[in-house]
Order: sequence, then C-alpha cells, then structure tokens
Amino acid sequence: TGNMASNRRVYLTRRPGEDKPPSDDCFGIENCDIEDIGNGHVKVKALYLSVDPYMRCRMNEDSGVEYVKSWNIGGTITSQGIGEVLESNSNKFKKGDVIISESLDTEWKDIFTLNESQGRLLELPPGTSPSWALGALGMPGLSAALGLIKKAEIKGGETMVVSGAAGAVGNVAGQLAKSMGVKRVIGICGTDEKCNLLKTIGFDDVINYKTANVADVLNEICSGQVDIYFDNVGGSVSDAVIGEMVKGGRVVLCGQISAYNQTGEYPPPLPTSTKEKLSSLEIKRERFLVLDYMEDFEKTLGLLAQKVLQGEIIVKETTITGLENAGLAFVSMMKGGNIGKMIVKCQK
Ligand code: NDP
Repeated sequence: TGNMASNRRVYLTRRPGEDKPPSDDCFGIENCDIEDIGNGHVKVKALYLSVDPYMRCRMNEDSGVEYVKSWNIGGTITSQGIGEVLESNSNKFKKGDVIISESLDTEWKDIFTLNESQGRLLELPPGTSPSWALGALGMPGLSAALGLIKKAEIKGGETMVVSGAAGAVGNVAGQLAKSMGVKRVIGICGTDEKCNLLKTIGFDDVINYKTANVADVLNEICSGQVDIYFDNVGGSVSDAVIGEMVKGGRVVLCGQISAYNQTGEYPPPLPTSTKEKLSSLEIKRERFLVLDYMEDFEKTLGLLAQKVLQGEIIVKETTITGLENAGLAFVSMMKGGNIGKMIVKCQK
C-alpha cells in the first residue's frame, strides 16, 4: 500500500495557451503516494531533473512532434532524470546505484519508479558531477557533437556562428567546433554576462542579440564569410546570420526556440529573402534530430567525456534547487535564465 504524504509530484495545472510563453502557474505541486514496485522495477530518489526546450511542445494539447506526447492537464510532468535506487525489484540495479532514465518520461516526483529497461547505471569519470549526464555528457552534448559531425562538414579553418551560444547545446557546440578544427567561433546570446563567459571558454567573438544589431555586427566582423551556422534559435537572428554566409555553407538546424511559444509547423517558415539566399548560395540546411543517431550515442559520449577530462570542453550549468521549483526552472530557461545546462537539483 502507498504511503501518502511522503512523496510529492509536479503536475500540469493548465496549458500556456496559443502563442503564449509558459508561466509558473502552469505547474502545481501536491503530495502523493510512493508507488509499490512490481517485478523488474526500481524505486528511485530523484537527484537531478532535466528541463529542456522541447518540453514546451508537451504543454500544448497536441505536441506537434513525433518523438514525445503532450502532457494531460493534471498529469505528472516528465523529463529525463537521475536518481539513487532506494529499493530494487530488478536484477539490473541494486540499492544505492545512481541511475539515469534513458527515456524522456521520468516522472517529476521526490520518489519515482522506473522500469529497469528504461534505466542505465551512471558510470562517470572521477571529478565529474552526475548532473553532467543531463548536459555536456548527455543529450545536449550529444546534440552539439552529432550536429557538428553529421551536418557541419568541418574540413578545418572555417568560421562558425552559434546562436543560443551560452545554452546547454550552444556552448558545447562552440567549444567542440574549435577542437574539431573550426578556426573562428562567433557566439550569439542574450546577455552581456553570457557574452563575457563565452569569451572565457574560447569563443573568439560574441554578440548580444538583445542590445546589438546582429546583421550589422556580423557584416562588420566577418562580412559574407560564415561557413557554418549552428542554429539553436531561428527567427530574425538566423535570418541575419544566413545573410552573411558563404556559397556552399552549412546550417546545422538544431532548434528554433524563438518560435516554440507559437503553434505552427516545425521548422517554422522562413522569410522569402532568407529562402532565396539559401538557394542561390546552395547552402545546406537539413533538419537535425539527435534521436536519429542513437547508434552513435555511446561512442560520442566517450568522445565528449574525453574532451571534458582534457579540458577542451569546460562544463557550465545553472542549478535551481528543489522539486517545488522545477516548473520555475523550466520557465526561467525558456526566458534565458540559464548559463549552460539548466538543472533541477532535488533534495529531500
Ligand atoms: P538552452 O540551454 O540553450 O536554453 C534555452 C536558451 O534559449 C535560453 O537560455 C535563451 O538564451 C535562448 N532563447 C530563449 N528564447 C529565445 C529567443 N526568442 N531568441 C533567441 N534565443 C532565445 O537550451 P538547450 O541547449 O537545451 O537547447 C537549445 C536548442 O537546441 C533548442 O532550440 C532546442 O530545441 C534544441 N535542441 C535540439 C535537439 C535536436 O535533436 N535537434 C536536441 C536538444 C536541443 P538567451 O539568453 O541567449 O536568449
């Protein structure tokens, strides 16, 4: 039988509504049972939960994407998570193991249950935090690395622009690109603090898109010379960058966060002038989805771990503490409140 009031869960109270940003009151928290575990399941104390931009589409009635379902109103919020096994009915895990859920469906509870088939033992190199497995050594790091490996066609000596540059994917993409032979990396992000940080981790130039005119600055510092554009944001920032690209350039179409609060097709339609630029200069711009490359995950995580241990990738994260603040962490990330990966640290 369950043990009421010894557990809590975060649930969806309401949808943000068409074309609106999410707000804190979309998320509620309440006491709930600790579920009994059946065969092949484990009871896990949450340590870290991931908040990611794709979760915005799960708040809509129709997620609009094939790889995740939307949340029901009243339903428990889910994402990727890391926790410590409290009790095991599985041969795969024992009490005390720290495990990560491989699916995006870990329930936001102090104590959640997991099917052994959805968990993986976390074995991280010494000197690293388990939370990094949700960031530079997890899905965002993989997105940066595989986006570059599969779509950027790096030959060496290129100029690359990254948008969303101070975020989980963007900062790793910039750092990794340099270690893969890109000569000059220009980062675009939303605050001066982020710009300064990017300089300390090897970005050559930085642009605050909220205070500067991106097109003017790019035109001044690398007029028409952008070979690769790692796009995390879309919208007018991306139109400006594409306007400065070389013939035969490559856009890594990783994300379009500037459009995630709007309902509509993905990727969102481009203005005619940008479409014309892409076609007249034969710039490649193919949709990239990290989940299409699962067979490459293990090898690529090994590469990322090696780069982190060698100091070629400096790991950045922003931590918000407490399951009760997890919704707030998501809302804050969507507005730019994070440097590096936004992490919810649970403590109970
Ligand atoms: P981030 O850590 O980058 O957090 C989101 C950031 O987006 C914010 O910090 C904010 O930074 C920026 N942002 C928010 N609104 C806007 C806007 N209107 N215009 C420009 N920037 C904005 O998140 P992730 O690193 O996890 O994800 C980055 C991108 O990568 C997202 O688009 C995501 O969907 C995509 N992604 C794609 C994957 C794939 O398989 N294709 C896998 C994982 C992520 P700032 O202060 O700079 O505005």
